[in-house]
Amino acid sequence: MVALREEDREDYVCTGESTYFSGLYVDDDGVLRIVNPEFGPSTLAPTCRCCTHTFNGVPFTKQYRYLGE
Ligand SMILES: [Zn+2]
Repeated sequence: MVALREEDREDYVCTGESTYFSGLYVDDDGVLRIVNPEFGPSTLAPTCRCCTHTFNGVPFTKQYRYLGE
């Protein structure tokens, strides 16, 4: 979950289908940092209706939107 190389940094990581966490990296001083602090439970929308999606353990604030038809 922690990117050790710059090219591996991601805004978020997804473990399982509906559990998201901040992407983390270690900076040049060896300090653990969040790749994109703007990213949070209100950034992403759930990808399905059946699961409770969480970001860092906090439920998403956006509702699932059915995009078919
Ligand atoms: Zn689901």
